[in-house]
Amino acid sequence: MQVLKFGGTSVGSAKAISQVCDILASYKRKGVLAVVASAMSGTTDKLIRCGQIAAEGNEHYRDILRDIEQLHLDTVRQLFPITAQSSLLSQVKKQLNQLEALCDGIFQVGEMSNRCRDKVMSYGELLSSWMLAEKLRLNGQNAAWKDSRDLILTDNQFGSALVNFEATDHNITGFFHQQQAEIVVLPGFIASNADRDTTTLGRGGSDYTAAIIAAATDASVLEIWTDVSGMMTADPRIVPQAIAIPRISYEEAMELSHFGAKVIYPPTIQPVMNRRIPILIKNTFDPEASGTLIQDNGEKPYPVTGISGIRGIALLTLEGSGMVGIPGFSRRLFDALLQEKVNVILITQSSSEHSITVGINESDMLKAKAAVDSEFSQEIYDKRIEPLTVEKDLCIVAVVGDNMKNHHGMSGRLFGALGRNAINVRAIAQGSTEKNISAVIGKNDLRKALNVIHEVFFESDTRQLNIFVAGTGNVGGKLLEQLQQQEAYLRSELGLQVRIIALANSRKMHFSESGIPLAGWKDALEQGEAMDLAAFAARIPQMNLRNSVFVDNTASDAVAALYPNFLQHGISVVTCNKIACSSEYAAYKKLKDLARKYNASFLFETNVGAGLPVINTLNDLVRSGDKVQTIEAVLSGSLNFVFNNFVNGSSFRQVVKAAQDEGYTEPDPRIDLSGKDVMRKILILARESGAVLEMDDIENHSFLPDACLNAPDVPAFFEQLDVCAAHFGQLLKNAADKGERLKFVARYHMGKASVGLQSVGPQHPFYQLEGKDNIVLFTTHRYAAQPLIVKGAGAGADVTASGIFADIIRTVR
Ligand code: ADP
Ligand code: ASP
Ligand code: MG
Repeated sequence: MQVLKFGGTSVGSAKAISQVCDILASYKRKGVLAVVASAMSGTTDKLIRCGQIAAEGNEHYRDILRDIEQLHLDTVRQLFPITAQSSLLSQVKKQLNQLEALCDGIFQVGEMSNRCRDKVMSYGELLSSWMLAEKLRLNGQNAAWKDSRDLILTDNQFGSALVNFEATDHNITGFFHQQQAEIVVLPGFIASNADRDTTTLGRGGSDYTAAIIAAATDASVLEIWTDVSGMMTADPRIVPQAIAIPRISYEEAMELSHFGAKVIYPPTIQPVMNRRIPILIKNTFDPEASGTLIQDNGEKPYPVTGISGIRGIALLTLEGSGMVGIPGFSRRLFDALLQEKVNVILITQSSSEHSITVGINESDMLKAKAAVDSEFSQEIYDKRIEPLTVEKDLCIVAVVGDNMKNHHGMSGRLFGALGRNAINVRAIAQGSTEKNISAVIGKNDLRKALNVIHEVFFESDTRQLNIFVAGTGNVGGKLLEQLQQQEAYLRSELGLQVRIIALANSRKMHFSESGIPLAGWKDALEQGEAMDLAAFAARIPQMNLRNSVFVDNTASDAVAALYPNFLQHGISVVTCNKIACSSEYAAYKKLKDLARKYNASFLFETNVGAGLPVINTLNDLVRSGDKVQTIEAVLSGSLNFVFNNFVNGSSFRQVVKAAQDEGYTEPDPRIDLSGKDVMRKILILARESGAVLEMDDIENHSFLPDACLNAPDVPAFFEQLDVCAAHFGQLLKNAADKGERLKFVARYHMGKASVGLQSVGPQHPFYQLEGKDNIVLFTTHRYAAQPLIVKGAGAGADVTASGIFADIIRTVR
């Protein structure tokens, strides 16, 4: 015999029921087929709601009844030819009338007992299974319908009744023994007690009905037909990349379902496991897919078989010095919980025995607290233990696999991944069999946690990066262009799926949770909402996506002020904006500390020398224990351009104008010429070398006369450059007389920094610096005789964008 169970979606419409009939028609039957049906999807929820609001005296229960009636009558009309419809419709109507009478009764009494609730719920399965049996008969199959309540006997725990296996097995074997029909259709979920009252087996219990029948008849297989192609590595509604697990052991399936993999109701596995009957999970809507075979252990490709999660968890902690070394505390705790029928999902105990923590359903929280505090009232009064602490709004994620025990570092990988994504772990439990590691986390982190864990264990060759970009001007535009060009390479060579989740410029912002296609980013942004920086900033942590990176391509104070909030949420920050790192030391330090604390990256390579690896080189030196003594550098592409072009006979004003026209200077060239920009850069390098330094501590030997610096506006400034032509000419002559060239040099030495114009001879490494190149010389303990030199293009949107690009990639490396 074979037992097949079809879930709610599988019988959720006339079309689905016909599909089930097709599956059964071509099924390779070995003996009688038992077919168990759930209620049409959503019906059980509607029935419960209907009873509930009737009990509250709310007349709207009639609307819900009408809705249920409509669904079932429509299904009959669509399933059967008109000639067959009238008698079938009247039979369905008869059942619905009984249901209505029941609900009217509840409405009148103003109360619904658990017993009555089970009766109301039973109509879902009764109707669906009956329609399926009739349809099979109409198709010419030798099919019969049997009421499961005649077979499955339970105790009186309405809502979640316990099966009397002795009587049930006896009934089932007796019934199937003398069965003439080839297919027997039965309603899942429902049973009856000794008084023949209807009981139910717990939500999702149709799976269990099928398992009970399979075990009693020693079926060759139990097939669970549902709306997904098997038990997947994670809930596909939460983790879209989840894949079907081809084979899984009974124990693993049990662990996964216990921790929330709804695809199979947890009690289902035990009865069939006892008899070693294989369970096959199949997709009604893709019957060709091989599905999942649950059986004794088999070879597994991964150490982890699957991950799952449950919402609505509360943690109870019993704590106190009075617990140490005194036996019996945990027994009393669990007895108190058992008395109240509180289901314990997870347990952890500190090794000092000072505290014990259990995870339960949030709905049981209040009664659990009352029961435990009352059990320990004397000890609480004596202050030997604390009143029970209760924390809510939590969930559990569980990583399951028989194979985990054979691999090192599984917990390390799990908690490392959670930590990198700023997911705070409230409690941990790992069974000694190492089949399961579970972590309790905040409910808002469930989606992100399941996705990062899935990525770590099943997608080791791919990582998803979720990018939020502020600033789409020169640099931002180039960055998006480069990301688009490199999309395929990143995916195939680095296994990186880079998704732009949000874009913003000063006017517009646009979000897309599934990623903004890079080819059409400009249009998407143009059609976006009006920019609202506060809303933009708030939405990024709210989305709570894994491997999130905020990219700042602006020069805005307001944008830089957002970094602490991002870092606190574990969102990495990549920026070419120098403001954050060159403001007060305390603010810079805070950002560094936040990044460390929340495991996020804070990367700003492009703050100095555009894409040149200046900061990374410095960081590598410092991290490996080297000490920086001196940094000498030409860090301004604009000033280098100016002094390279300022030769004998040329006008300083014209050279500066040319630099401005080429876009090498800020709109107000004084920001460059005054040395302020270079001061910021050397300040950042000094800080990265370990110095505690402020902007004001840096000496600036300005070569600009006050008259130029203090000119009221940019045109007046240019006028003043002419007025002071002699001064600039003299600077040039002094250098030329010695055979030297002018360079604007930044210097850091033993905790002190300065910037200023300097003339350098042909032997000096700065002498040959061309165009807008930058150069940095690091003299350190290790590089004492010859400095370490980094040199190359130090300005321009292209190289800056590629530096940002590299920092983005670095956040996941
Ligand atoms: P049915 O009505 O067929 O019993 P359920 O809704 O009870 O179907 O269970 C199937 C659903 O379980 C799937 O649609 C899926 O969203 C959910 N689910 C949760 N975890 C998993 C998992 N690990 N594998 C497959 N499905 C899962
Ligand atoms: N219809 C019941 C429920 O929704 C049982 C089941 O579908 O398995 O819980
Ligand atoms: Mg189910």
